[in-house]
Amino acid sequence: MIKTDVIIIGGGATGCGIARDLALRGIPHCLVEKGDLAAGATGACHGLLHSGSRYAVTDTVTAHECYEENLILRRIGRKCVEETGGLFVRLPGDSKRFREIFLRRCEEAGIPVEVISSTRAIDLVPNLNPEIEEAIKVPDCSIDPFRLCLLNIRTSELRGGTIFTRHKVVEIIKSHGRCTGIKAIDQATGEVREIHANIIVNATGAWANMIASLASSEVSMTLVKGSLVITNHRLTNMVINRLRQPSDGDIVVPNEAVCLAGTTSLAVEDPDKINIESREVDTIISEAGRMIPHFNNTRIIRAFSGVRPLLKSKKMNSHEISRGFQIIDHENGMYSIVGGKLSTFRLMAEKIVDTIMAYFNLKKSCETAEIPLDGQEELSGYPLAKRLIDMKNIVCECELVTRNEVERIIKKTGTRNVGDIQHRTRLGMGPCQGGFCTFRALGIMNDLNIISPEQSMEMLRDFLQRRYKGIRHALWGDQLREEQLVEYIYLGILAMEKPK
Ligand SMILES: Cc1cc2nc3c(=O)[nH]c(=O)nc-3n(C[C@H](O)[C@H](O)[C@H](O)COP(=O)(O)OP(=O)(O)OC[C@H]3O[C@@H](n4cnc5c(N)ncnc54)[C@H](O)[C@@H]3O)c2cc1C
Repeated sequence: MIKTDVIIIGGGATGCGIARDLALRGIPHCLVEKGDLAAGATGACHGLLHSGSRYAVTDTVTAHECYEENLILRRIGRKCVEETGGLFVRLPGDSKRFREIFLRRCEEAGIPVEVISSTRAIDLVPNLNPEIEEAIKVPDCSIDPFRLCLLNIRTSELRGGTIFTRHKVVEIIKSHGRCTGIKAIDQATGEVREIHANIIVNATGAWANMIASLASSEVSMTLVKGSLVITNHRLTNMVINRLRQPSDGDIVVPNEAVCLAGTTSLAVEDPDKINIESREVDTIISEAGRMIPHFNNTRIIRAFSGVRPLLKSKKMNSHEISRGFQIIDHENGMYSIVGGKLSTFRLMAEKIVDTIMAYFNLKKSCETAEIPLDGQEELSGYPLAKRLIDMKNIVCECELVTRNEVERIIKKTGTRNVGDIQHRTRLGMGPCQGGFCTFRALGIMNDLNIISPEQSMEMLRDFLQRRYKGIRHALWGDQLREEQLVEYIYLGILAMEKPK
C-alpha cells in the first residue's frame, strides 16, 4: 500500500501538467493512468497550439487564455513546440461579415493578427488554393502532445512523484464519506494496487463522470467525438484554418514530416465506444482539399478519433460549445477538472493546484510558466537530425528508428507494451503504420526476455486489429497497394490467421 498527499487519475495533458505543478510546489503525489501517457484526447488531438483566433468569435475568454498559454509554452517548451505560424484563409463565397467580426474579436482578445494578400499567402504556403481571396496571419503553432506529456512527467519523476501507467482505477476507497484512496488494476499482471492520499484529482477527461460515479459524485459533460486524418507528406509549413464559423474539416496542422487534418464534431455517449465513419474521412479530405488542393491526391496514411471532454451545454452545434474549463469540488476529498484544451492544460493545472495548496494551507506559488520543461535535451528518438546520427540496425525504415533506440526505451521504462515504444520513438508512425516494424520490436522484447513468444503473438494480433481500425478508411491508391503487401506478409509469410 502506498501513501501520498495527492492522487491524480488520468495521464493526459491535464494530469501530467498537474503532476509537474505539484512537483514544483513540493507536494508528494502519484499519477495513475489506465493506458500510456496521452492515451485519451491528448494523444488523439490535432496538435495545434492555438493562438486563440479559432475561438475569438465564439468565446473571447478562452481565446485570450489560449494566446497567453501559447506564448508561455513557446518559452518553456521549445522542444515540443514548432513555431509554424498560422493562416486563416478566405475562400470565394466565405462570409466577409465573419471576417470583420473575426478581426474585431481577435483585437478584443489581444491576439495579434495581420491581413495579407492572397499572393503573399501563396508565397508563404505554395500549396494553398490559388483561388483564396485573402488570408489572415495568426500566431498558431504546432505542438507534439506525446512529448508534452513526457516532459511534464519528467519534472514529477525528478522530484519524487510516482507514475503508474497501464493501471486502471476501478475503485475509490472511502472512509466516513470521504475519498481516501484508490484501487487500480495493473493491466499487464492483473495485480491490484492500493494508494491512499488526502486528495484525489479526477483528470480523466471524457471519463470524468465514470470516475466521479465511483465516489457517488457526478460530472456533467458533453462528450464530442472528433476525427482526424494524417497525410504522408507535409503539405504546409504553417497551420491552415478556414476563415469561417468553426466547422468540420477546416484546420490542417503540420507535424514532423506529416500533416493532420480535421476535425469533425459528433456528440457521443461513451468514450470507449467510438468509431471513425467513412463519411467523416470524406468530409475532412474534401474540406481540407478546398484550402490545399493537393490534399485530394495525397496519400492518407490513417484516420483516428478522440473525445473532447466539453462543459455541459445545450448548444446544438458542438463547434460552438465553450472550450473553457471547470474545477468541481465534490466536497468529499475529490476534485474533478474538465473542459479546456490541450493548449490551456498548464493554466488548468495551475488553477487546480492553487485549490490544493489552499486546502493544505500552503503558500508556494506556481512556477510552471517560468521554468522550462525538464528533460528537453535528453529526450531522444526524434527529431530527425538526431536519428540520422546512428543509422545502424534500423528497425523502422519509415521513421528511422534503430534497434539501439528500441532497446534503450525498453530498458529505461521496463515496458511490456509495444505502444509505449511507439509513442517514445515514433516507431510505426510512418506510411506503413507499423506493418514492417512492429513484429521486429516485439522480437526485440522477446530477445530481452521481457515477453514470451505467446505474449508477443497476442500483442501482434491486438496491434494489427487496432492498426486496421485506423487505416481501413484510407485504403485506396498507394496505401491500398502497400496494405496488400503487409497483408501478404502477415497472412502468407507469418501464417497469421484472418480475424473471424
Ligand atoms: C479530435 C480532437 C482534436 C483536438 N485538437 C486539439 C488541438 O489541436 N489543440 C488543443 O489545444 N486541443 C485540442 N483538442 C482538445 C484536447 O485534446 C483536450 O482538451 C485535452 O487533450 C484533454 O486533456 P485531458 O488530460 O483533460 O484528457 P485526456 O487526454 O482524455 O486524458 C484523460 C486520461 O484519463 C485516463 N483514464 C480514463 N479512465 C481512467 C481510469 N479508470 N483509470 C486511470 N486512467 C483513466 C485516460 O486513459 C486518459 O489518458 C482536441 C480534441 C479532440 C478530440
